[in-house]
Parts: sequence; structure tokens; C-alpha cells
Amino acid sequence: MKELRSTVGSAFDVPVERLEGVGPERGKLLRKLGISTVGDLLFHFPHRYEDRSQLTPLAQLAPGELVTCWGTIAGVEELRPRANLTILKVLLTDGTDQAWAVWFNQAYLKRSFTVGAKLIVYGRVSMRRWEKTITVEDYEKFSSSENTAFSQGIVPVYPLTKGISKKVMRRIMSKAIKEYMAKIPDTLPNVIRDHYKLPATGEALKQIHCPGSIQQAERARKSLAYEELLLWQLRLYGEKTQWEQREGIPHLIKGSLTMNYIRQLPFPLTQAQKRVLTEIFNDMEQSTPMARLLQGDVGSGKTVIAVLSLLRTIENGYQGALMVPTEILAEQHYLKIKEQMAGLGVETALLTSSLTREEKERISANLKNGTIKLIIGTHALIQTQVQFADLGLVVIDEQHRFGVSQRAELLAKGLGKPDLLIMTATPIPRTLALTFYGDLDYSVIDQLPPGRLPVVTRYVPERDRQKAYDFIKELLRQGQQAYVVCPLVEDSDKIEAEAATQLFQELQQGAFASFRLGLVYGRMPSQEKELIMEQFRQGDIHVLVATTVIEVGVDVPNANIILINGCERFGLAQLHQLRGRVGRGSAKSYCLLMGRLKSKEARARIKAMLAQNDGFALAEEDLKLRGPGDFFGVRQHGMPQFKAADLLRDGQILQLAQKDARRIAQRRDKPEFRQLWELAQQRFAEFSP
Ligand code: ADP
Ligand code: MG
Repeated sequence: MKELRSTVGSAFDVPVERLEGVGPERGKLLRKLGISTVGDLLFHFPHRYEDRSQLTPLAQLAPGELVTCWGTIAGVEELRPRANLTILKVLLTDGTDQAWAVWFNQAYLKRSFTVGAKLIVYGRVSMRRWEKTITVEDYEKFSSSENTAFSQGIVPVYPLTKGISKKVMRRIMSKAIKEYMAKIPDTLPNVIRDHYKLPATGEALKQIHCPGSIQQAERARKSLAYEELLLWQLRLYGEKTQWEQREGIPHLIKGSLTMNYIRQLPFPLTQAQKRVLTEIFNDMEQSTPMARLLQGDVGSGKTVIAVLSLLRTIENGYQGALMVPTEILAEQHYLKIKEQMAGLGVETALLTSSLTREEKERISANLKNGTIKLIIGTHALIQTQVQFADLGLVVIDEQHRFGVSQRAELLAKGLGKPDLLIMTATPIPRTLALTFYGDLDYSVIDQLPPGRLPVVTRYVPERDRQKAYDFIKELLRQGQQAYVVCPLVEDSDKIEAEAATQLFQELQQGAFASFRLGLVYGRMPSQEKELIMEQFRQGDIHVLVATTVIEVGVDVPNANIILINGCERFGLAQLHQLRGRVGRGSAKSYCLLMGRLKSKEARARIKAMLAQNDGFALAEEDLKLRGPGDFFGVRQHGMPQFKAADLLRDGQILQLAQKDARRIAQRRDKPEFRQLWELAQQRFAEFSP
């Protein structure tokens, strides 16, 4: 995950090692937490606070309570009731009463406690054999005057890593605060700060690390969340305004391609498809270039919308491009669309990196001279050699698989005036959609074509594998087809290929010996991949053993069952995408989830899959389970990891920031906003073309 590169003042140029008490060793450990500069450290926020604002006299200890007490050490004892248990007991007196502070298996602490020294402890009270006992969670010796950062009041609890204790973290944090906080420049211009009555950036940071109350800390966090989100939204507007300054193509209602295409469809468009199409066509008629995001769950019928939009540009005399993330998908779209286009007299071509050089050159030439009207391809399309005669619209399918950099590459390619339609099936919850695509207009197909049955989803324990195979065979005998998905292998194409091949051989010789099987995985030569997919589409292959290469877009309506092995390794949205490969026709279809549900998270994901067929509801669930940082697709979207903003909770702040960003972007040449605008473009520089 890319780290948010803030440029808040010089603290961000100062390596943490510059702080007293941080050497190379600790520096390395801190980097594990994403902290390499003092600025990073200051933006390393507590994940919770403990309220120790009240000191409880020892006379008032009540069992079960979490308390902070101070006392003078009156005695130290070490017990060893069992071989693997040591109990360290320190007797404290404070003039009102006495109590035992207790540590388990930390006998090494014994040396640090001397009778007569003062100690503050934080922990839970219990009564053990009529003795008042505090099981210590945190403590500090109460000796030097430097210890003001301690443990009284509201105490921040920081995310830690092995080797950096809470004490160490607190100590270096207070050093950083003392030495650098004053040098943190203010992010917001006064007009905004005064309007919302927000603290200055440095002041807010201080309130987060050394709050007077938990409420104050939360207000300060929200204030910085607003700053962060405002800057991010301004960055997005930075891209958008560049986009809008371009001269676009007013696509008029001309010709008959779109009408003829609709007429020859074997089904009527859904209400949602019609609405979305109107939104897109309205945009295309404008002379500013369109930049629109189209979201629709798997199977909601986005392809038709893409084709119709492309035909609109073609009937206006321009060329259209459809860009997809995988060769399999490019091939599939091409095969499906080619015939329809031939009927309409539209010259269509496929461009992927697996073509021979001559083929590529021929296609390039025909794109340049305008013979090819519609080009379908992978990212080979944005390679520099490709030139168009007159490109009118680019549609990007399954955008979440491309990532921000490729989207940016396309925008920056100087394609100039073409409209842009970005499609995604990743059901992004609204808050995240605003965060990623605050700069895009937004359409959603919120309806599936009629007659779709929800996919019957079952968890199948490993011991029932044979039964699952029998069930699949039954469907195969009825003429249906099946997917068997291999477990996810991280980070190694080679091992993935081997694992997939092995599963394929096992099934071919074992359970499915009497059927025809095919195998596809990412690393396979393209031609082979295409051949297998084509045979599967034709029904010559009954069972397709596959890795996640089939995750996006693959549309074989006769395949009605998918078995997902190692389901515990997939994210929720990914499982939903895979499940979306079936249930694309009107037959009853099945998704069998197989794996070992050892972790709590895996169980929660599978439970959600069983309960929900709707991608948006699942996405909300996924976001809750994993948090925005790990949410599927976030990495690919290349979103920064926010420090203060919590996308799960800060939806309102985000909307406010978005609204303000829009207004500020329009007035960015005004002296009061110029600096803020610059800062935004700079701070998120790496998230841009
Ligand atoms: P996705 O949104 O996942 O890309 P597709 O465009 O692949 O979905 O459509 C899924 C299937 O639904 C395809 O087989 C397509 O032909 C069919 N389809 C699309 N629109 C309709 C509709 N309005 N009525 C019936 N079937 C439709
Ligand atoms: Mg699709």
C-alpha cells in the first residue's frame, strides 16, 4: 500500500533516527509501522485512549474496575506457584490503604522496583484472598519531573510492533511533539478554519496525542480528517479540471447504428440500463469531454451499455475503443461483439499483446487510417505506438483491475478530446466511491435483467468433497457446464501454474474422468488460453479448471455451477465476482465454497456470502470486516492510506470536503486558496498522472 506522502513542513524531511532514543535498530522497527520521518510519527495516531483522569485512592478500590492509582512501594515479592508461572507482587501504600500490584510472568521487572519508590499503575482490580489486587496493564515509575507525559489523564494507546513497547512509543512521541510540533505549518486557510472553528494543524495534532479529554481528541481527529479529505478531493479536482479544459466532441443524435443495435437485441433493455444510457448520451452530447463511472453488479448488463455508447461515437464518424484488463475478456468481448458489428457494417478489431508483430502493425495502420471503427483490447491499447485517426470514446471495462496509474496513463496520453466511460463491477460502497471517483460523474445499474435466480450458495466442508463432485457430475450429465476454481496462490505465477496443473490432472484422472476438462491460468500462452475458453464457450469442454483469471467478465451462460477451492483465501468481493460467473442465464445455478474455515475472518466472509447475493451489501460488509485499507480493490485503485480519516465513520466529513473542494477548485486562483490548492496537488502527487 502506498503511504500517504504528506509534506507537512520540514518534519517530513527529518528521519525518525534524529530523535533522541531512536537508533538504527528502532528506526527499522518504526519503518514497519510506516514511520520513517518525524512527520510520519506525528501522524501515527492512537487507535484508542484510556481514560485515567481520575486517580483512585487505594481505600476506594472496587473489584472489576479499571483504575489508575499511585502509591509508594512498601514491599516486593516473587511467587512461583507452577513451573511456567511467576507472579510478581508489589505492595503499594498511599496513606488511605494498601494494595498489591501484580504482574504475571514478568519477573524481570523485579529489579526495577525498589522499596520507597513511587509508582503509578493502571489495571483491573480484584480481590484475592482478602487482599486488594491490581492486575497491572500499564505502569510508570513516578520519579523524575520528565514524566508528565505519563500515564495520568487521557492516555493514548498506539498501534505497536514487536520491539517497540508502549513506553518507548510514548517516550519518542513526546520528544517529537516537544521538538517539532511548533514547526508544523497550518494546512487550511483562515477563511475555512474560522468558518468551521477548527484548530490549527499543529494544535489538532497535539490534541490527538495529549488530549484533555477523549471528546477533544475525537474533535481534533475529525478536524484533521477534514483537512486530509479536502486535500485529496482537491487533488481529484486537479485532474478533473485539466480534463474539462479540453475541447470535447459533441456527439449528436445521428445515424441509425444505436437504434439498429437495440432492435436486434434478443431482449429489451432494463429500466436501469435505459436510465444509465440516457445519462451517458446526455454527457456525450456536451462539448466538454465525458468522464463518467458506470457501476453495476456482476451480470447487470454493462456490456450492452458499452457497445451502445461506442456505436454512438461511431455513428458520429469517430472511432471507439473498449479496453479490458485480461486477454480472455478481450477475446470474449471481441467474439461476441464482432458478429453484431459485422451485421451493422462496423469494422471491428482485437488488439492484445499476444498478436504477432505483423498483425499488430496491420491493426495499427488501420487504426491510424481510420478503417477500423471499433477496437477491443487489453492495455496494449494504451501503448505509445497505437495511434488513432479520430478517437471519440474510450470505455474501460472492469476498471478496478487496472488501477489508477493506468487510468491516468490513458488520460495523460494526450488522447485529448475523447469521452471516457469507466465501468466497474466492484461494488464500491458509496463513501469509497466518493473517495476514489469524486472527480467522476456517476451512474449505476441497480437492477439485474429479469428472470435471474439468486445463485444457490453453499459451504461444503472438505470431507464432503466427493459429494460435491457427484453433484457437479449430475449437472454435467444434464448438459450443463462447471467451473472449478483453484486456491489462490499469492505472489508466484509459477507456483500458481503448478498448483492449477496438478488439480487439473487429479480431476481428469479421478472424479471427472468421463468428462472433458480444460485448464486456464494466467501464465499460460495466450493462444492456448483463447483456445480453451473458446472450447468452453462452445460446450466442448465440460469442466473448466481455472485460477482467478476467470474472475472478471467471463460470460458463459451455460455454466451453472462453480466450485471454489480454498475459499478462505479469497476476499469477499473476489468471491462475489467469481460467483458472478454463474447465474447468467435463467437456469438454477450453484456456488460451492470449499475450504478450511480456521480464522474468524474467513468464517465471517463465508457467512456473508451465504446470506447475501447482492454485491453492494457484500461490499459494505467487506468494508466492515477488513477496513478500508484492505478492502478489495483499494490497492488497485491506488488510494492513499488516510491517517486521520476513517472512511467507515467519516462519510459526512467526506461529503462536506467534497462540496468544499468543488467550490475551492472554482476559486483556486484567489489568493486565499492558492496555497491550499498547490499543497493538495503536491501532497498527493504520486497519485496522479
Ligand atoms: P456485466 O455487467 O457483468 O458485464 P454482461 O454485460 O456480461 O454483464 O451481461 C450479463 C448477461 O446478461 C449477458 O449474457 C447479457 O447478454 C445479458 N443481458 C444484458 N442485458 C440484458 C437484459 N436487459 N435482459 C436480459 N439479459 C440481458
Ligand atoms: Mg462485464
